[in-house]
Amino acid sequence: MSRTVHIIGAGLAGLSAAVRLTALGRAVVVHEATAFAGGRCRSYHDASVGMTIDNGNHLLLSGNHAALDYLRNIGAADRLIGPQHAEFSFVDVLSGERWMLRFNDGPVPFWIFDSRRRVPGTSPLDYLPLARLLWPPAGKAVGEVIVCKGILYERLVEPLILAALNIDAPLGAARLAGTIVRETLAVGGRACRPLIAREGLGATMIEPALTLLQQRGTSVRFEHQLRAMRFSAERVEALDFGSETIALDSDDAVVLAVPPYAATSLIAGLEAPTEFRAIVNGHFRIEPPLEQPPILGVLNATVQWIFSFPGRVSVTISAGDRLIDTPREELARRIWDEVARVTGLPATLPPWQIVRERRATFAATPAQDAKRPGAVTQWRNLALAGDWTDTGLPATIEGAIRSGNRAAALIASPS
Ligand SMILES: Cc1cc2nc3c(=O)[nH]c(=O)nc-3n(C[C@H](O)[C@H](O)[C@H](O)COP(=O)(O)OP(=O)(O)OC[C@H]3O[C@@H](n4cnc5c(N)ncnc54)[C@H](O)[C@@H]3O)c2cc1C
Repeated sequence: MSRTVHIIGAGLAGLSAAVRLTALGRAVVVHEATAFAGGRCRSYHDASVGMTIDNGNHLLLSGNHAALDYLRNIGAADRLIGPQHAEFSFVDVLSGERWMLRFNDGPVPFWIFDSRRRVPGTSPLDYLPLARLLWPPAGKAVGEVIVCKGILYERLVEPLILAALNIDAPLGAARLAGTIVRETLAVGGRACRPLIAREGLGATMIEPALTLLQQRGTSVRFEHQLRAMRFSAERVEALDFGSETIALDSDDAVVLAVPPYAATSLIAGLEAPTEFRAIVNGHFRIEPPLEQPPILGVLNATVQWIFSFPGRVSVTISAGDRLIDTPREELARRIWDEVARVTGLPATLPPWQIVRERRATFAATPAQDAKRPGAVTQWRNLALAGDWTDTGLPATIEGAIRSGNRAAALIASPS
């Protein structure tokens, strides 16, 4: 039985592993390189907009069972909000059309046969080819499995894959798109309700976990970056934090829950994804119109999703690499022009912030997907976690939490 488990990285993968292991009574210490927990899923006070915002809008679906389970375990399940049923509002900026996609709750997709629920301009037969994504052939891209054009593609498949895989849809790994389709669309509306952390990611997903861990006697050491690991043939023997080296007892264990570029610098020869995609978020301090839906999908525009929060409108652009070098002011103006047009808000630019996460997720191509390692390593006391490990899911909150749970299970009961 492991004595102390050292978890490296306080992102969702590390925190979920810590929550699981402490629930089993294990002694855990979390080591985080930065001064804050949450990694890519965090809130911070932003001086430009004068409020606490998230680094990026994060959307969960009601079918993300590991994420919901994690929230229940940290006592924060009620902090996610969403509609009673799976409904998604859309606007097409080119045509001016607006519609609401409304899935029915059960697994039989009646919504496809109801013109008031399905994507406007489509017929039930258009949906048949989507079945090819359910169990796609190995190693293929989405563009090799389905035809990436037509109204259904433009109005449903492309926005879904872009949001879930953070990559131009035809290039995305069909295996990962398949998991999303199987775990959400194919299950029915009950698994597709959009959920957001209305009070922010920190207050919902991170701070309650830190409080729980503290109650369980776990110390989270911030600004404690792991610099190197010392290995013997069969186990990790020591953790080198620069100013301090922790020698591990033979029963101690390590969960390495850092991003792939950090993991490969700590483990020579580890194969892991090497390409990434950006996500761009624009945050604007302004009260959204009363009739504005909490989430609005936007087609034929730079903006992809508009999120409405009390006193703030925030915008998400996935696979936003083409916008990384656009001057910030120009980008804020361009985004706001579209938001104002769609929402009817004044064209004057409100206080704003642009957050560009260059390495938001690994590039979910078949080639990069093939580089993802599992949790098991050649060392008996070291398990890997992180959204980039081979969870079968794209880089998401759900994937990060499942990876943390899996690493915790491995450490708790090594085979
Ligand atoms: C802008 C944006 C929008 C997103 N939107 C969504 C969404 O809508 N829905 C969704 O499900 N997912 C979304 N994601 C993805 C989601 O945020 C990630 O999948 C998830 O947060 C990854 O968690 P993780 O723990 O695997 O990695 P990380 O969050 O990267 O955590 C790794 C941690 O390890 C620490 N670390 C690194 N090196 C060391 C070291 N040597 N020693 C100690 N600590 C170290 C890091 O500082 C970090 O805290 C989004 C991501 C971004 C960036």
